[in-house]
Amino acid sequence: MNLLKMSFKPIADIGEFGLIERISSIVSSSLESSPKLIEGIGDDCAVYELSSGTFQVVTTDLLIEDIHFDLLTTPVQHLGSKALSVSVSDICAMNARPCYALTSIALPPKTPVEFVETLYRGMNETALLYNMALAGGDTSSSKNSISISVMVAGEVEKNHITYRKGAEPGDLVCVTGSLGGSAAGLKVLMREKNLMLEHIRNGEQYDRDLMNNLGEYDKAISQHLLPPARVDIVAFFEKHMIVPTSMIDISDGLASDIAHICKMSGVGAKIDESRIPILPQARLIADEFQDEALNFALSGGEDYQLLFTIKPDKFDTIASHPDISVIGKINPENEGLLLKDIYGMNIDLLSIGGYSHFRE
Ligand SMILES: [Mg+2]
Repeated sequence: MNLLKMSFKPIADIGEFGLIERISSIVSSSLESSPKLIEGIGDDCAVYELSSGTFQVVTTDLLIEDIHFDLLTTPVQHLGSKALSVSVSDICAMNARPCYALTSIALPPKTPVEFVETLYRGMNETALLYNMALAGGDTSSSKNSISISVMVAGEVEKNHITYRKGAEPGDLVCVTGSLGGSAAGLKVLMREKNLMLEHIRNGEQYDRDLMNNLGEYDKAISQHLLPPARVDIVAFFEKHMIVPTSMIDISDGLASDIAHICKMSGVGAKIDESRIPILPQARLIADEFQDEALNFALSGGEDYQLLFTIKPDKFDTIASHPDISVIGKINPENEGLLLKDIYGMNIDLLSIGGYSHFRE
């Protein structure tokens, strides 16, 4: 292959999902040649059948400095914790339990040893919280920035596995926790960062330490810096013998993640705006930034809550959980993907995008 003679299409032209489609078509023959691989690219995890009849689910995430995290707004211990939680969140999205993780890291040689120790302390504390092991990984040097790669393997009984596909008309759409906090918290952190840099540029003193003293927006900032993976919800499902008909974790935003469920399940949905649980602090922050908290929830992303569908006869059990909200209903595909706003108007949710890498 002569790179100089190739015609180039920048990946920004096709975006993250276009790129994934192209990679999928190249590797599809290897996926098909493995009979024990139940699900390859396209869901929150790859699914592999173990000899015991249990499914193993595996996921990997890559975090790059200044793309996924900014060391001026992220305490290192939190970074370690979040790196693990975002992958465990994908395990939860398959209705599975995390078992172990492999973590790899690339660092410029000038990185302080204490940085690495603090990072891994954050990961270890979080692993203990999720009852899983940090089983190994790799280290490498890098030129300028820090990269962290986390692979997590989990397990789930064959008849409990939950995919993005599986939602059917009549199912209820549910979400855990509250949304919009992560995007709102990031807004505040970025503002503080810019203020700090401005003070430094002007040679002025800057005493605020927002990372350690989160102030009035503590919940939103914590939601961004330390999003918990909802292993507790998977345990709740197991205890009450509930298997959702479909599930995904909210990484790109409610609009784009419900669209993934609808696309994979071949259905439509109607989400009721008034039922979307928005973090109250996200509303205050939206007011301050003259933005809409609904936008943070729909397309902010990184809330890492679970979005799932259930059969209507499970409503009473689900409604008994204080941290689960029923926000809408699955409809036939031809009815589209709609948001009923607070005035009763139906808005096309597909017109509201979520986060996508490579877009410029
Ligand atoms: Mg996911």
